Amino acid sequence: MNQDKLYKFLAFNDEIRIYSVESKQVLATYLKHVDCSPVALVAISRLMSGALLMAGMLKNDEKLLLSIDCNGPIGGLKAEADAYGNVRGFVKNPLLDVPLKENGQFNVPAAVGQGTLSVRKQLNLKQPFEGSCELFSGEISEDISYYFAMSEQIPTVVGLGVLIEKDYSIAQAGGFIIQMLTNASEEAYQYVESLLSKVNSVSDLLKEYGPEQMVYHLFKDARLLESYPVRFKCVCSRKMAMDILRRLDKNDLDAMIHEDHQAEVTCNFCQRKFHFTEEELKQIQEEKS
Ligand SMILES: [Zn+2]
Repeated sequence: MNQDKLYKFLAFNDEIRIYSVESKQVLATYLKHVDCSPVALVAISRLMSGALLMAGMLKNDEKLLLSIDCNGPIGGLKAEADAYGNVRGFVKNPLLDVPLKENGQFNVPAAVGQGTLSVRKQLNLKQPFEGSCELFSGEISEDISYYFAMSEQIPTVVGLGVLIEKDYSIAQAGGFIIQMLTNASEEAYQYVESLLSKVNSVSDLLKEYGPEQMVYHLFKDARLLESYPVRFKCVCSRKMAMDILRRLDKNDLDAMIHEDHQAEVTCNFCQRKFHFTEEELKQIQEEKS
């Protein structure tokens, strides 16, 4: 199977910037860690692809976290990605189920409901950048487009797609971001508008052309600037799990020592479990006091 990759392009006389990504393997790796319903899989796939595409705008050690806080049965979801192509995702209630839409598509808006999309960017500056907006539709792609318009004032089109077979295997996943640069002409805006009226399904485009050829299909003069592999990778560690225990208050730690005689910290993103013995907990307790 092809390795997932992210591509960056300039097109339309360098007035438009395009990012495209394939994230089929990302999703397959995610599924090895988490049991999840098809609608939850579609939602987290869109959010992880969106995070990878947005991380394409970062440099070196920068990273970003997309969080959806919502009142729908999915309970909330988040995805974190960095400029090296690593991404991880988390769904609060991954086993939720909602009926399909009338047209047979997975009903992500019904799973998500209403809420906010927040973006936190850890840039190479002292203060992290934070922005947020209300959810536009709960489709996630439209919510990210709306975020760019409202919070960063950059005209942006986001297309995210996942194709799931009847046996729930992943046929394709990925998407694109099209951004109008400050020098974009009226013609460039009109071109993108006419393009969008012709694109029915991002996942069909991805399946037919792949993430790179899809962009040449949409923009005849597209110029590839860079491409790099992307993957699902969790950065959790025993040290991070220990830091969580260190931040607990004294009473909670006492209860773990005297009642449970142990503790287990589970990573929200990959479900990896870190086990701590009574002795280790006592040591953490001593370090605190
Ligand atoms: Zn993890």
